Amino acid sequence: MATQSEQQRVCPVCGEGSLEQRIDTHIVEHAGVRGSVPLYLAQCAACGSELAPATEAKMNKRAVITFRKRVDGLLTGAEMRAARASMGLTQAQAAALFGGGKVAFSRYENDDVTQSEAMDSLIRLCLSQPANLRELARRKGVVLPGEARNAGKLFDSLLTRNLRDIKHSLDVQLGLGSSEVRHAQPPHTQPSVSTIQAWWKRVA
Ligand SMILES: [Zn+2]
Repeated sequence: MATQSEQQRVCPVCGEGSLEQRIDTHIVEHAGVRGSVPLYLAQCAACGSELAPATEAKMNKRAVITFRKRVDGLLTGAEMRAARASMGLTQAQAAALFGGGKVAFSRYENDDVTQSEAMDSLIRLCLSQPANLRELARRKGVVLPGEARNAGKLFDSLLTRNLRDIKHSLDVQLGLGSSEVRHAQPPHTQPSVSTIQAWWKRVA
């Protein structure tokens, strides 16, 4: 897990040993809910000193933010990434659609920053109802990947599209046509984040 630069870190306490990353557990509490999160430490192989340098401090902060998001019922960074991917959006497109600024989604997805409740709700609404996503894209002038691909198919009927979505959804639920599903959209009729995560794990 440790990168080359991590392996080369010299202990600032003894000035001789190299620092190696170690993962401990940390009990945290948020809004009356207790839970354990990983605690990243750097331990000196020579003198045994335990430190939390910048890299580990950042990872620890992210772990706590992930925990708080979960307690507050917000999408975690990983869920946010899965949600965005399932909508076929780049981080820049997501920011253009939902707001938050240029690097907002990188920060949300890395659990550096917590999204607002309003942002969280908006993303869930677009995730559960693709029509909301399309309407928002129209208002913001963002070209969605699906629309770009179907730009020449103006007469593609809505009924056909719905049928295709339903078929995809059934295929995914039944675990059929895995090679086809690999390129398919996630099941919009079953838009819970856990479903999308399961889907994402399978195709990733
Ligand atoms: Zn040392």
